[in-house]
Amino acid sequence: MADEFDAGIAREWVRVIAVRVSEQATYLGELDGAIGDGDHGGNLDRGFAAAVGKLDRTTDSAREVLTATGGALISAVGGASGPLYGTYFRKLARALPEHGGASAAELGAALQVGVDGVRALGGAAEGDKTMVDALVPAAAAFAETATDGLPAAAVAAAEAARRGADATVPLRARKGRASYLGERSEGHLDPGAASSALVLAALAEVVGG
Ligand code: ADP
Ligand code: MG
Repeated sequence: MADEFDAGIAREWVRVIAVRVSEQATYLGELDGAIGDGDHGGNLDRGFAAAVGKLDRTTDSAREVLTATGGALISAVGGASGPLYGTYFRKLARALPEHGGASAAELGAALQVGVDGVRALGGAAEGDKTMVDALVPAAAAFAETATDGLPAAAVAAAEAARRGADATVPLRARKGRASYLGERSEGHLDPGAASSALVLAALAEVVGG
């Protein structure tokens, strides 16, 4: 169980996300096929594979690891989710200490900065049926439970992300490609919210929660 979010844990987080995304790529593509263009799984698979390819070139800080990850996502993914996840990782990285690792409280604050970046870039609020619906409650849950330590906070964040993603099913999409469907987007899980739940589950996995 980790008590500090350091460069090694950050690298492991990116590696585990890449593995889980690859395992779930078909499923994420099917979710996107229902209310979008079907490329979400492929987009993230390509993006996180590119991010893993950058890991060895990063050095001692979690901040540097996740900055490189964000850059790789922005360069490798053409769809909306590339710049959005890229911004998430870059903004949260910049909120981390310049050297070494971060405490649970510091990571909790950084996750909130990351999601603020996603909201600023994409203009989505909670309830618009996007990744924001998973990332916002995840950051809040992490920050609220940070005093219980990194593993407990990461588990709380993963559970909140999962609940937030599941709650997108009845919603009508108001941002992104799915919004073109209007009421026909109702009754489907948002693919970006589903992938965000997976990103937070990977964090819980690597910190030992
Ligand atoms: P594209 O929509 O370009 O095909 P993806 O399929 O990879 O890109 O990603 C779709 C996901 O991106 C959606 O399910 C949604 O969660 C997220 N998304 C799209 N637009 C926005 C936005 N403006 N703000 C936040 N998230 C968004
Ligand atoms: Mg798509």
